[in-house]
Amino acid sequence: MTQSTIIRSWVTSANGHRDFPLQNLPLGVFSLNGSAPRSGVAIGEHIFDLHAALDFFEGQARGAVEATAGGQLNAFFDLGRGPRIALRERLFELLSEGSTLRGKLEALGAKVLPLAADCQMHLPAKINDYTDFYVGIEHAQNVGKLFRPENPLLPNYKYVPIGYHGRASTIRPSGTDVRRPKGQTLPAGQTEPTFGPCARLDYELELGIWIGQGNAMGDSIAIGDAAEHIAGFCLLNDWSARDIQAWEYQPLGPFLSKSFITSISPWVVTAEALEPFRKAQPARPEGDPQPLSYLSDTRDQAAGAFDIELEVLLTTQTMREQNLPAHRLTLSNTRHMYWTVAQMVAHHSVNGCQLQAGDLFGSGTLSGPEAGQFGSLLEITEGGKKSIELASGEVRKFLEDGDEIILRARCTRDGFASIGFGECRGTVVAAR
Ligand code: CA
Repeated sequence: MTQSTIIRSWVTSANGHRDFPLQNLPLGVFSLNGSAPRSGVAIGEHIFDLHAALDFFEGQARGAVEATAGGQLNAFFDLGRGPRIALRERLFELLSEGSTLRGKLEALGAKVLPLAADCQMHLPAKINDYTDFYVGIEHAQNVGKLFRPENPLLPNYKYVPIGYHGRASTIRPSGTDVRRPKGQTLPAGQTEPTFGPCARLDYELELGIWIGQGNAMGDSIAIGDAAEHIAGFCLLNDWSARDIQAWEYQPLGPFLSKSFITSISPWVVTAEALEPFRKAQPARPEGDPQPLSYLSDTRDQAAGAFDIELEVLLTTQTMREQNLPAHRLTLSNTRHMYWTVAQMVAHHSVNGCQLQAGDLFGSGTLSGPEAGQFGSLLEITEGGKKSIELASGEVRKFLEDGDEIILRARCTRDGFASIGFGECRGTVVAAR
């Protein structure tokens, strides 16, 4: 198949769009001029308003649109794969170049296709629970080395998809400012903590995973069924206050160093849109244990990983004033996950813990093994030992007020339309 066979959309900005061509069709929740939040689908520079176009849907696809009502996608996520695919197929038909309904839709103009730039994006679902995993093995090793050079990975890492329960109430969509947190820190060489604004503010580049159909409390989701329970994906920035974290994290793990805000990209890229970009899970290095049977599935190992290029950019206030291009901090990939998303789902529910539609998982920081691929400043500056030099002449070890972090993702494969995730942005503002 060649690029020329890729079906185009009559929404011309979709053709060749870096994130949202006809082949992506991610769902989200938006509002326009202060209207109530409602569901839509990103197509090129526009948003296809699902409810304004309700009459163009019937059967399962109509049921899917109806389940997106009320400015939250939870009920839609809960419908599972069948209705999601029916909706995707109908959207593809309606928005493709040869659509017989093109004229009718075009006549409705901005009523069904407002410009995305005129709209405000919201969280796509009510997030009842948020769990952050730690499956980026390169990050786990890099961070482990800083603290335990002889023994960077703890003995459980290759048996257990490590995770902790995060804070759902402070997850925000891209564009929300990041207020510098205050807290307790232990200054170097001191024995008593001090209180004040975080001085070592960091980002973490992660993949977000939206849970679709959940499980009843007491039941477990089998590894072979786990992929069916994933509704889609986003980008996630697990903002981290490293100085607060260093003082508080033992013995129970991160707490206030993480819970002040978590940013996500607002579009839910479906499992179906990512289908062409699935990969085999990389073989475990020789000497690593095989996963226990509740985490083992041949099909998951054969196609449960993804090839998604991930990028982190930084701009400072000065760089923006001088119109300097953003500085690339990280170029990484989801292939650096030691555990698949299906393994995360199976592990999370194996004890009978209930997952619910609209729960959100973070993958953990997805660093690559080489310089330029590290997904946090902690790794890039080796805990503040090295500086990053910027084109403005400024230097950074951690984030300053006015700095903006932008996460992006891109999937490419010969013969397929490239798709992206949209952006996950956040600007640091001074502590209050
Ligand atoms: Ca994290």
